Amino acid sequence: MITGPIVTGSIMCGMIAAAFGAPAVIWATIGVVGLFGISAMTFWCVQILASTEVMRESLSRTPPMKIAIRRNSVVKPLETGFNKFVGEHNERFEGVERENSEIGLQLQLLQRQKRNTEAIIYSIRDSVIVVDAFDRVTLANAAAEQLFDFKLDQDSSPSIEELVGDKEFVRLIVKSRRSKIPHVRHEVKFTTDSEERVYDCIISCVKDEQGLISGVVAVMHDMTKEKEISQMKNDFVSHVSHELKTPLASINGYAEMLVDGEAQNQEMVKEFCTIIQSQAQRLNRLIEDILNISRIESGLTKVAKEPLSLAILVKDATEALASYAAEKNITVNTQATIIYDQACADKDMITQVIINLLSNAVKYTPAGGSVDVKVEVDQAEDVVRVTVSDTGVGIPAEDMEHVFDKFFRVEANMKQAKGTGLGLNLVKQIIEKVHEGTVFVTSVQGEGSTFGFTLPLAGERVAATT
Ligand code: ADP
Repeated sequence: MITGPIVTGSIMCGMIAAAFGAPAVIWATIGVVGLFGISAMTFWCVQILASTEVMRESLSRTPPMKIAIRRNSVVKPLETGFNKFVGEHNERFEGVERENSEIGLQLQLLQRQKRNTEAIIYSIRDSVIVVDAFDRVTLANAAAEQLFDFKLDQDSSPSIEELVGDKEFVRLIVKSRRSKIPHVRHEVKFTTDSEERVYDCIISCVKDEQGLISGVVAVMHDMTKEKEISQMKNDFVSHVSHELKTPLASINGYAEMLVDGEAQNQEMVKEFCTIIQSQAQRLNRLIEDILNISRIESGLTKVAKEPLSLAILVKDATEALASYAAEKNITVNTQATIIYDQACADKDMITQVIINLLSNAVKYTPAGGSVDVKVEVDQAEDVVRVTVSDTGVGIPAEDMEHVFDKFFRVEANMKQAKGTGLGLNLVKQIIEKVHEGTVFVTSVQGEGSTFGFTLPLAGERVAATT
C-alpha cells in the first residue's frame, strides 16, 4: 500500500538531487526514508483517528458497546483495555439501573399506599385532623373541613391556629402534643350552622421510629344524636316511673283504708273498690301502651302487613265505639267508600290507630257534639287518607307541636278526660315508623280538632261495594 508513494518519492528525490548536483543515490535514499516516514505517520494517524471514532461512537451509546479494532492497527492493544472498561462500566450501569427501577417501584408502592390511606381517612364520617410536630395541619378529611369551615391546601401546611377558629380545640391539640400522652378523650362542643353539637374527641400522639412525637391525630365523633337519645331514655324512665307511681299510690292508699276498716258502710267499700279498679285499669293501659311503644321503637314488634281496606277497619272501629259515643250523646258520621286493597298494612295496628283517634275525638268532645270520619283515596299523592274531625274542646296553638310526644297531655283538657298521654305517640309510631305513612293534626281551641293519617296506596286496587 505504501510502495506507490515510496517509489514516486524516490524518483522525485533522485531528480531533485540530480538537479542540485548531489549524488543521486544519497538524495534518493533521503527521499525514500522521508517519504516512508511521512506515509507511515499518515497511515497511523488515519488508524488512530478511525479507532478514536469507533470508541467515541461506542461511548455515545447507552450502554457503551464493546469495540473491535483491526488486527494490524497500531491501537489494537487499546481494544482489550477499552472493552474491559466498557464491560465493567456496563455492569455497574446495569446494577444502578436495577436499583433505580426497584426504588421506582417502591416509590410507586408508597405513593399508592399514601393515596389509599388518604382515601380511607377522607371517607371516614368522623372528622379527622392530623398535625405535625410543629402543629402544622398535614391532613384533614372532608368532615373536618366542613366542621371547622376551611379548605386545606396540601402544599402550604398552615398551622392549626390559622385554620381552626375554635381556640379551645387548638389548645387541646397543642397540649396533647406537649404532654405526649398516647390518647386523651374529651367531650367538646362545636357550633356549626348556628347549631351546637357535641363531639367525642380522641386525640392521639403519633410516635416515629425513635419514639419521638412526630404529630397528633384528632378524631371527632358527632354524638349529638346519641346524647339526645340517652336524654330521651332518661326522661322516658323518669316519666314512666312518675306515671306508674300515681295510680299505684292511689291503689295502695285505698287498699290501706279498706284494710284499716275506714270504709264505714257498704257504699264506701264499693266506692273505694271502684277507685282501686279504675286505677288498676289505668295502670294496665299505661303498661300496655309503654310496652307497645317500646316494642315498635326497638323494632321487636311482629308486623303482618296485608292488603286491606281502611274503610272496613273504620266501619269496625266505629261500631266498637258506638256505645261509648251514644253514652255521651255524640253522633259519629262515616264517609268511607269500601275499596279493597287500599293499603298494605298490619290490620291490628291500624285498627288500634283508628280506635285511638276515634276514642280521643269522642273523649274530648262535650255531649251533643259530633265526630266525622272520612276515608279518601288520593290518586295524586298516591295515598289513602283517614281523617277524624270533632266538634270538641280543641287544642291551644302552643301545644300543637307536642301532641304526638310521649306522656304529653294538654293541660287545658286534663279535666275533660283521663288519659296516659301515650295514645297519640303510639299512633305516630305505628303510622310513621312501621308503615312509612304520615300523621297530621289541625285544631282550633273551643271549636274542634281534626286528626288523621295517610298510608301509601297498595299497588293494585279492586273496587267493590259501599
Ligand atoms: P291521652 O291518653 O291523654 O288522651 P293522647 O296521646 O291520646 O293521650 O293525647 C294527648 C293529648 O292530646 C291529650 O291529653 C289531649 O289533651 C290531646 N288530644 C288528643 N286528641 C284530642 C282531640 N280530639 N281533641 C282535643 N284534644 C285532644
